[in-house]
Amino acid sequence: MRVCMFCQGKASTREDVWPSWLTRRAPVSGTARIYAERRELNLGSWPIKQPKLLVKWLCRSCNNGWMSRLESEAKPVIESILDDTLDNLDASAQMTLAVWAAKTAMVLEAVDSDRTWFYSEDERNLMRVARVIPVRTSIWIAKCVDQSSVYSAAENLRTTLDDDGIHAYATTMAFGSLAIQVVTIRTPVMIPAGVAVTYDVSEGPWDQTLVQVWPITQASQLWPPKHGLVGELGLDALTKRLGPSM
Ligand SMILES: [Zn+2]
Repeated sequence: MRVCMFCQGKASTREDVWPSWLTRRAPVSGTARIYAERRELNLGSWPIKQPKLLVKWLCRSCNNGWMSRLESEAKPVIESILDDTLDNLDASAQMTLAVWAAKTAMVLEAVDSDRTWFYSEDERNLMRVARVIPVRTSIWIAKCVDQSSVYSAAENLRTTLDDDGIHAYATTMAFGSLAIQVVTIRTPVMIPAGVAVTYDVSEGPWDQTLVQVWPITQASQLWPPKHGLVGELGLDALTKRLGPSM
């Protein structure tokens, strides 16, 4: 029996990753899904084009219950960005977007069931019962220009080939004028939870391009930022922003 990735209940046949209100506005036809695994010794990326993203690891009760409630809270925030009617994000809007983005990053992993998922069963369970965003997660949003389709990409970055190093997982997604990036860092057990872990980012005006929504640093964030990401190339630059060695 195939089980739900969030509650271990019986998974239903197939569920769309993207809700229909979103794909109505941003056509899925141009979806590019890139899964890249970059390690110190082995750099490579494999682009995959898929017209529709379906996930087999969700159940009806999650889909129609907590996920649907989260969806209806995130929808007005996302739509106000797509409609260009938003000029600032208060803490509650930042939080709603962050939780929705972290949930979606987890669901996107399920599109590829052939590899080991980054987020753990515990992390998915905490998301379901208490909307907990995994520790050492940062989430940013950016404005896209000349980008109308749905985009999603994931990057798996490690400092070593085994599990002893630092592991980072970055999910980048976009629909119409909104891009979201979720980065979670997993550290070896000997690094205490309070110790900050930094990583390299590629050069670029990221400070003026990205608005951090998690962790919440400001009660109100101005929108849109000074710079936008142009087309799919801009999104690829965002996807590849994190350095392979940390
Ligand atoms: Zn479920």
